Amino acid sequence: MARRLPVYLLLDCSESMVGNPLDLVNAGVHSLLSALKRDPQSMETVFVSIITFDTKARVVAPLTEVFAVHPPLLSAHPGTALGAALTLVQDSIKREVRKTTPSLKGDYKPLIFILTDGVPTDEWRGPAKSLKGVEPKIANIYAIGCGDEVDFTAMREITDNCIYLKGLTPSNIKDLFIWLSASVQYQSVSVNPDQLVSLDKIPLKKGMELVRPDNIPKPSEKPRLFFHILCSRKRNHFLARYAYSPETGFYQPGESLPLPEDFFSEGKAKGAPIDTSELEDAPTCPFCGGNDFAACPRCGTVFCLHVGDTQVDCPSCSAHIRFKADGDGPPLIIDGSQG
Ligand SMILES: [Zn+2]
Ligand SMILES: [Zn+2]
Repeated sequence: MARRLPVYLLLDCSESMVGNPLDLVNAGVHSLLSALKRDPQSMETVFVSIITFDTKARVVAPLTEVFAVHPPLLSAHPGTALGAALTLVQDSIKREVRKTTPSLKGDYKPLIFILTDGVPTDEWRGPAKSLKGVEPKIANIYAIGCGDEVDFTAMREITDNCIYLKGLTPSNIKDLFIWLSASVQYQSVSVNPDQLVSLDKIPLKKGMELVRPDNIPKPSEKPRLFFHILCSRKRNHFLARYAYSPETGFYQPGESLPLPEDFFSEGKAKGAPIDTSELEDAPTCPFCGGNDFAACPRCGTVFCLHVGDTQVDCPSCSAHIRFKADGDGPPLIIDGSQG
């Protein structure tokens, strides 16, 4: 039986990936698989599994030969359960990767690529330690952090091979997946596929940088903020995104994104509290054009309003809420997430 090179892709599908970034990753996975399918050596030895993580971690494609991998379109959910993904990949490796026995050469050491753009929301140190701290290592791992909100000091607890991708732009993501498929191909033809091929052979693309221990990028002190707003008219959810503006000293709203219907299908991970006194202006509701928001004092749901509304029924629990005419209430603390 031929020895296989198992490749595990661990993909962050948290809310910060909603919209364009996730579309780009979906296209990237597709192009990676197409490239491997065109390569005879990869077709013979490479097996691919895809694990996503957000509210929880799940195997969306179990370890399968390249030509038979058909991943579903990835969709986003709240949260960044990196710890759960690290546990799941170790369980998968135990179950799926063939061990060497006296009579049989087992599979090559698995290759793991972790792609994330934010801060884990679950306990990840334990699973990271059992992945990195055990000799001999069970896998060769690359952790790719996208954007300036990734905590690389934390990522280095998972692997010494950390790559900083400067922003989730279309060309960066495209290049990343080209590099990824080159690394897999090099690894599959290397003299000793158990040993990670040096980066000299597969140079990083523009926009990618190896994180060196003496030069670890610092995560942004003012990461982007995200929270969900329920449209009080149409009862659909959208994602409000805020970015910090050093000029004003406040967070400014970015584009509001309608959330997919299955966004909360795995639950509603409780995010970090956001103090609304740090926010300037309200996002515009993409469903009804409402340009203000409030939180229900009874159930905590954040919902959209139109400036000038003096009363509204909470779209979640139907509580009847009145507002003071001037509209300037005390600052709210609402649930959100960062990164
Ligand atoms: Zn609305
Ligand atoms: Zn309510």
